[in-house]
Amino acid sequence: MSVKNVSIVKFCYNKSMKITKITTKRYKAPLKKPFITALRKVYLLEDLIVQIECDDGTIGYGEGVPTPAITGETFASMQNAIKLIFENIKGMDISDFDDIIQILHSSIAKNTTAKSAIEIALYDIKAKAQNQTLHQYLGATSSTLLTDITISLNEIDQMVQDSLEAIELGYKHLKIKIGDNINKDIDRVVQIHQATKSNDISLRLDANQGWSSDECIRLLQRLERQNIPIEFIEQPVYAKDYLGLKDIKQRVQTPILADESIYDIYDAKLLLELDAIDYINIKLDKCGGISKALEIANLAKEYDTKCMIGCMLEGPISISAAATVAAARADIITMIDLDAVSLLKNSHQTINSIRFDESKIELL
Ligand code: MG
Repeated sequence: MSVKNVSIVKFCYNKSMKITKITTKRYKAPLKKPFITALRKVYLLEDLIVQIECDDGTIGYGEGVPTPAITGETFASMQNAIKLIFENIKGMDISDFDDIIQILHSSIAKNTTAKSAIEIALYDIKAKAQNQTLHQYLGATSSTLLTDITISLNEIDQMVQDSLEAIELGYKHLKIKIGDNINKDIDRVVQIHQATKSNDISLRLDANQGWSSDECIRLLQRLERQNIPIEFIEQPVYAKDYLGLKDIKQRVQTPILADESIYDIYDAKLLLELDAIDYINIKLDKCGGISKALEIANLAKEYDTKCMIGCMLEGPISISAAATVAAARADIITMIDLDAVSLLKNSHQTINSIRFDESKIELL
């Protein structure tokens, strides 16, 4: 290393980057069409952007969406949690990154979306401090991810039409929301399969906790008898019904993906040890941010269990962070469910060196 380079490294190392300020701002963006699941109906993406400033002028941006039906958080609870956490990390230098992250998570229980929004901003600062993009900092290698798209829970004709429109836009994976009525759900899947089977499309089902285990087994056994291929069934039963998941896994061929049942590595380990699931859906807002998502990916690797990266109805800052995690752990995160930007009226955009173009999420 030349003398000049040594002095630059020394300068960067010594540069103070103390956390001085945190602000939050509501972000609103209209959706192309309502987003409907067994748990909720949403017309507008509305989340919270977190901005963290350091004393050298560096600013980091994070984001998260309070989803009361899933994480139990609201805008008010998020803002309170962010304020509380900030009091504990204020004045700390970004070079003490691991300590900051540890304090962030031990400051308050749960409140995973608030923690994730702060974490994303802190990782943004950490990457900027090293003159890198977040994906360079996390060591991401793959350059283009292919996301699925959600087909909202609706009347059957509408869902078939939405599926065909998605295929027209280039999507290869459809995530079909079901879970309100078992007989209607069977018709939904059969008819979408009939309408799309010539297009080399994979069907993912998400019941958002809408069924009992018996209902789920009935539906899947029926689809299996009709040779309708389903890539996986996501969260068929209530989040805490671990034995229900195990019962389903023992009685059907279709892989089971856990979403609302898994917040952290302890949930994941329990379900993997119980042999109750096949795949894990990692979401930043659910697990508490980038560091926690990477922990789950590491655990999944130990169990040779593939993961999906998913999202709530979040904006582009947090979706780009999730895409970065997926690209950094492409060895274990093999399924991408990051369609929240695609659902926006303004769906074509580039943020944090990541370009969103319908099913393609490109790390530039
Ligand atoms: Mg889900």
